[in-house]
Amino acid sequence: MEEQKKEFMRKAIELSLIGSQEGIGQGPFGAVIVKDGRIVGEGHNNVIAYNDPTAHAEVVAIRDACKNLGTYELQDCEIYTSCEPCPMCLSAIYWAKIGKIYYGNTRDDAAEIGFDDAFLYQEIPLPLAERTIAIEPLAREEAQVAFVLWAKKENKID
Ligand SMILES: [Zn+2]
Repeated sequence: MEEQKKEFMRKAIELSLIGSQEGIGQGPFGAVIVKDGRIVGEGHNNVIAYNDPTAHAEVVAIRDACKNLGTYELQDCEIYTSCEPCPMCLSAIYWAKIGKIYYGNTRDDAAEIGFDDAFLYQEIPLPLAERTIAIEPLAREEAQVAFVLWAKKENKID
């Protein structure tokens, strides 16, 4: 069992190597998603190749697993990621309802090679006015139309 877990992690590490060593190199991060003892999704960092700042290994793997399984929830799955997830990926893992996270490198290891996400952990608890990116409310009443209709809608998935 422990050995099988290590095999899944080795696959995530292999993806991190493929992604980072090919061509100009993506960030050195890889991830696999496992269900019932088999890999159902995988990915490595593809931010530059996809021109997509959200294409972190974990997000790419979640999209792959959801597509392969035809679902938007992965509660019976585990994720093996070559590095402790950043706040965006951690949130995506929660939204996907993945059951367990295994990680290789720590976020401090990532910070040491220039991938520091500590600022995000610091931003989130700050009051809106103190955050780095300006944020202000706008047209709430108009925006609420969709919420009101949603609240009244009968045939929706909770
Ligand atoms: Zn991430």
